[in-house]
Amino acid sequence: MTAPYTTIIGLEIHVQLATASKLFCGCSTRFGAPPNTQTCQVCIGMPGVLPVMNRRAFELGLRTAVALNCQIAPFTKWDRKNYYYPDLPKGYQISQYDLPFSSEGWLDISDPKGKIEPRRVGIIRAHLEEDAGKSMHDEAAGQADSRIDLNRTGTPLLEIVSKPDMRSPAEAKAFLTELKLLLTYLGVSDCNMQEGSLRVDANVNLHVHTPDGNVPTPIVEIKNMNSFRAVERALAYEAERQWQVWQETGQRLGQVPKQTRGWDDQANVTRGQRHKEESSDYRYFPEPDLVPATVTAAEVEQVRAELGELPAALRTRLESTYGITPYDSDVLVNQGRELVAYFIALADGAGDGKAAANWLQQDVLRELNARDLSIDKFPVSAARLAELIALVKKGDIDHTRAREVVFVEMLSSGKSAADVLREKGIERVDESELEALARELLAANPKILADIKQGTTKAAGALIGQAKKRNPNISPNRLLEICLAIAPGM
Ligand code: ZN
Ligand code: MN
Repeated sequence: MTAPYTTIIGLEIHVQLATASKLFCGCSTRFGAPPNTQTCQVCIGMPGVLPVMNRRAFELGLRTAVALNCQIAPFTKWDRKNYYYPDLPKGYQISQYDLPFSSEGWLDISDPKGKIEPRRVGIIRAHLEEDAGKSMHDEAAGQADSRIDLNRTGTPLLEIVSKPDMRSPAEAKAFLTELKLLLTYLGVSDCNMQEGSLRVDANVNLHVHTPDGNVPTPIVEIKNMNSFRAVERALAYEAERQWQVWQETGQRLGQVPKQTRGWDDQANVTRGQRHKEESSDYRYFPEPDLVPATVTAAEVEQVRAELGELPAALRTRLESTYGITPYDSDVLVNQGRELVAYFIALADGAGDGKAAANWLQQDVLRELNARDLSIDKFPVSAARLAELIALVKKGDIDHTRAREVVFVEMLSSGKSAADVLREKGIERVDESELEALARELLAANPKILADIKQGTTKAAGALIGQAKKRNPNISPNRLLEICLAIAPGM
């Protein structure tokens, strides 16, 4: 049975750009300072002051827009978006209305685990604007009053508006995850959702499949989601709620105006807030105190040339150069540029990309997580770990002992693999010695020998313990191979 409706999702993301100072004045953008200690006449909107654009903010916005494959406008201007709210003392926000600096881009999403189909999500526009202050209703614990902190006022924001191209909450989450990774690789924002550096609003409605064609339900904008997981849950809830309402009221829904609803993370529901404003409610007009900005084609090409290798291209290169799977390349690239650099040094040094990816994911990442370390603080260098991987490949040591004995010792002592092998008396057991041992153990265990001859090859596993007691240096895998090879002739 086909689904009774298609879910249509578009996202609007506000990203705080990582500048030291605000968009139109010199105040610091540092998070966490005491309330109202990072303000000046410009950002609190005293009469007669003049804003001056922060070049750095414009550059970070430009870098992001180019990475999102956007068209860059050669001429862009600022506009006033007029509304009243206590955290906006000027009574207007300086934003961009009809001539945003960038538009018409895209970002590809995919999922190596196969939960979503690969999809290209369009970007309608990305523009710059200033942030508002913060109303602290909740923070004033136990107090009946609300307070205003204007430290955030004037912090540069990049607003990114996607096309309504996503078809499920999982796709929305994948888009946000990929966007955040891209922003991190570009170094344009710290993307800290807890501190409000990345804020997401979602627009969602249904196209209900009827015999007369698809009928859209009214678009709902969801706000107040504090994690990507919350976005996913809120969208799933809202799609289901709209479907319930449709079933109860049917096509009369078409008369209901657009609505804004807030996500309640505790109660797991969205609640109606207000009717959504139309842009005409804001009485936009050009900002008279700022000069328009111009960007030349040469400047755009310069930015493009300096982007560095971005996540999608990096995944493709790791897969083709090192023969690793899309799943592996996704895990590595998601960890950031530094870990990828470690992987490349490891794979090149060991001459084995797959082994390097396995060691990195199983052993290195586990240690990093357990010790809460970043890769630049990891005690075993890529060159040293590559030596160990090479010794395993050569057959000087088996994989299990390499992990459980040598790697552990390298972690705590910082010694090289070769030194640890020497100190622990670990040495390669030659083939003739292994074969003699296999013959002896099979002869001493007639039941196991019989089982192997019957074709129950896993019976040979019972010999490993005894073999290890005789010589801890033997490779269990090699011993098993030899047992299976010689048993039929015994
Ligand atoms: Zn200021
Ligand atoms: Mn905005």
